[in-house]
Amino acid sequence: MEFDRDLFVIGAGSGGVRAARIAASHGARVSVAEDDRVGGTCVIRGCVPKKLMVYAARFADDFADARGFGWDVGAASHDWAALIAAKDREIARLEGLYAANLERSGVEILRGRARLDGPNRVRLSDGRVFTARHVLIATGGRPVRDGGFPGSELAAVSDDLFHWPTRPNRLVVVGGAYIALEFASLFAGLGSKVTVLYRGAEILRGFDLEVRRHLHAALVARGVDIVTSDTPSRLEASADGLRLETAAGRLIAADRVLLAIGRRPATDDLGLDTIDLTLAPDGTIPVAGAATTALPWLHAVGDVTGRAALTPVAIRDGHAFADIVFGGMRRDVAHDLIPTAIFTTPEVGTVGAGEEEMRERGIAHLVFRSTFRPMRATLAGREERTLMKILVDAADDRVLGVHVVGPDAAEMIQLVAVAMRMGATKADFDRTMALHPSAAEELVTMRQAAARWAP
Ligand code: NDP
Repeated sequence: MEFDRDLFVIGAGSGGVRAARIAASHGARVSVAEDDRVGGTCVIRGCVPKKLMVYAARFADDFADARGFGWDVGAASHDWAALIAAKDREIARLEGLYAANLERSGVEILRGRARLDGPNRVRLSDGRVFTARHVLIATGGRPVRDGGFPGSELAAVSDDLFHWPTRPNRLVVVGGAYIALEFASLFAGLGSKVTVLYRGAEILRGFDLEVRRHLHAALVARGVDIVTSDTPSRLEASADGLRLETAAGRLIAADRVLLAIGRRPATDDLGLDTIDLTLAPDGTIPVAGAATTALPWLHAVGDVTGRAALTPVAIRDGHAFADIVFGGMRRDVAHDLIPTAIFTTPEVGTVGAGEEEMRERGIAHLVFRSTFRPMRATLAGREERTLMKILVDAADDRVLGVHVVGPDAAEMIQLVAVAMRMGATKADFDRTMALHPSAAEELVTMRQAAARWAP
């Protein structure tokens, strides 16, 4: 059968763009459809603008700490509108680069909404129908907007805050994971009074418990109010903003309420009813290998799948998919040992298992731990401590988990992940010369902190 395209990609986010470019470089005729801005969640309304805002927030520490080093920086104030305008310019520049790179690779960009229209067929919102030998769904995900309580429509989600005209003086963030904590932390840094409302007993479910407690205490010390074991029960407009009632009977006044209660895969309105594909119970598209679905012509990468909702995962899978299908190459993507960071201040960087996970998996292990005051904190007069943990397999000395809470945690963990990917043992860490003075040197001088745990 003849097809109009070798590959039709739905969604020009991180995964879709990479797959489209690589497929085209292998000689495939590729179109990518996008009904929003080219770049997707990460570039337009996720990782990139968020990190720019994190940088903005951290200047508060720099100004405060500078005094301890002899600087007189005067009174500092922050201009939210200037930050948003600068951020918008940078995002527009990146969007342009993404589109230009696609075009330079020979990929056709189709503006509009694409829906599947039976096997190997895609219908664009302008009515055009395309046939394609392969279709890649890379539509990503969207924040959950329905908080499940009266008035939840008055709350915002992360998509919205990048365009708020003013910075809220009083912000309530609902949720206790990546998005909730990153924005809670950065708005606090910019000067907002922030309350985190989390339904569980301790923030950051799934992470090492000590990491969770350490970050919790550090955020509280920085002025973030963290309310646990409570949920919103009603949100309404008040004379001076919003009034949030909670299940436990709290009344919290706010200028904005941010719902950061998870994201859903963007599989609705995709024409999936025109093909024979069963979604996972959580609405994601099940995939094996890089991007293989149950249908030979259909593939999926990124947040629309059940894989870790992280940009580098989408990019790796999209790249591997294109190499395999259009380049005839063998490619394996390792989906274990994914390093990840939470860009709070202080920052969390982690790779591998936490202590609780090791126990659940019944792995006999040793725990190494270090907590210390970073050198910069001494003259700055900060009490905040860095936490580092290494979890080691008692059977073969392999490092199975490394967790850092403190400045530059993300940068450290990326490199630790290389060592762990190579199968590094604690003895390998120990025979690596320390780099002094640094925080990372603690990783190669760390002492055992607890007796061996065995199931
Ligand atoms: P998550 O799904 O990770 O967390 C959702 C949070 O909201 C949890 O704390 C959850 O509680 C809570 N929650 C869920 N439903 C409700 C509800 N109905 N009422 C109250 N609270 C609720 O979502 P995020 O939105 O934070 O992030 C989505 C994904 O995006 C992340 O998992 C991550 O993969 C990615 N991401 C990565 C970043 C990074 O790498 N730095 C930054 C931002 C996002 P509970 O724990 O009890 O389930």
